[in-house]
Amino acid sequence: MNKVFLKPGREKSLKQRHPWVYSGAVARVEGKVENGETVQVCSSKNEPLALAAISPASQLALRVWSFDCDQAIDQAFFDDRLAAAYNLRQTLNIPQHTTAWRLCSSEGDGLPGVTVDIYNDHAVIQLTSAGAEFQKNLIINSLKKLRDWAAIYERSDVAVRKYENLPPRSGLLAGKLPDGLLEISEDGRKLYVDIVNGHKSGFYCDQRESRSMVQKFSAGKKVLNLFSYTGGFGVAAALGGAEHVINVDTSAPALAMAEKNFALNNIAPERFENIEADGFSFLRKCRGEHRKFDLIVLDPPKLVDSMRNMSKGCRAYKDAMLQAFHLLDAGGMLFTFSCSGLVPRELFAKIAADAACDAGCDARIVADLGQGADHVISTSFPEARYLKGLMIVRCN
Ligand code: SAH
Repeated sequence: MNKVFLKPGREKSLKQRHPWVYSGAVARVEGKVENGETVQVCSSKNEPLALAAISPASQLALRVWSFDCDQAIDQAFFDDRLAAAYNLRQTLNIPQHTTAWRLCSSEGDGLPGVTVDIYNDHAVIQLTSAGAEFQKNLIINSLKKLRDWAAIYERSDVAVRKYENLPPRSGLLAGKLPDGLLEISEDGRKLYVDIVNGHKSGFYCDQRESRSMVQKFSAGKKVLNLFSYTGGFGVAAALGGAEHVINVDTSAPALAMAEKNFALNNIAPERFENIEADGFSFLRKCRGEHRKFDLIVLDPPKLVDSMRNMSKGCRAYKDAMLQAFHLLDAGGMLFTFSCSGLVPRELFAKIAADAACDAGCDARIVADLGQGADHVISTSFPEARYLKGLMIVRCN
């Protein structure tokens, strides 16, 4: 196995079991390495530290498979890691009547670059790193050993793969997809998922717990669900007894699916509306028309995708929250989310505070929300906590 030597003093984070090494910490790569192959990472004093996948083109040069340098990174290794991920999910109290869940959460499960989402008995796999791509056959074999899947489908059609010199890829790897739409259940809510054309692996199952929370607080309310995608929060609100729900998204196919999802849950057509519009403009338009809502969900796409975009993205979060506060009266509820991993919870709460201040109201954060427990976070990789949510009540 080829060795990679770090610069003096750069072994600290690996000793704390953080699984990433940036290219700037690498002093020398021994031999000629292939994209994604396993190398032994050594300190400047030739002390073995970890076995990692190398990605020579990426700033994120090394991702650790194991801190045990005697471990073979072979079929048995992937069998063990995926089985451990699967078994952990059996202990996490994922709500009953839930058939959409994350089986493998990349670094959170000790498998950097490997994400697996389950929809009923269909597994959707996403490989985002050179190492995961290099080990693809072994990983798929391990997945097949867990149980009989109706289908294994690949959705590695994500932009980050370009930084690893990998082309986008998607397609059926095993089994057969259903002829019609796939219907899943999430804490009792019925929803259609399109694993071939949908966003991510087809659905945002990371918001399951927050949707259930919205369901609990929706009785009798007028609900505005912005950035609705296929209407998951909206269906939750309607099932929770909302008087009326408006879903807003820029994606026509997502809204067409939302329409189907409301019908699937037997929600009468006069109780909801699906509107194709820009979320930010829609908020302004509602304010201009003096419209009011009792509960607003703001779940925008990742608005901060790099440090360069930090202030622009934070301004957009604040703008949306400010407009939303204007559409609520005292007692109105705002469920506001950020899936930008680079925005820490404290900053997000500060943005909410600034928005309330500019709206001229007092507001209370009554619950902290976030990704479900199946989106596992390793203690040595807190960066995995990408999804933050705040449930806020307008006071006056
Ligand atoms: N709340 C959803 C997930 C939202 S993902 C759920 O529970 O499933 C973010 C959504 O925002 C995507 O559906 C995307 O199409 C939509 N979107 C992106 N930019 C938008 C904009 N400017 N206005 C409205 N929707 C937008």
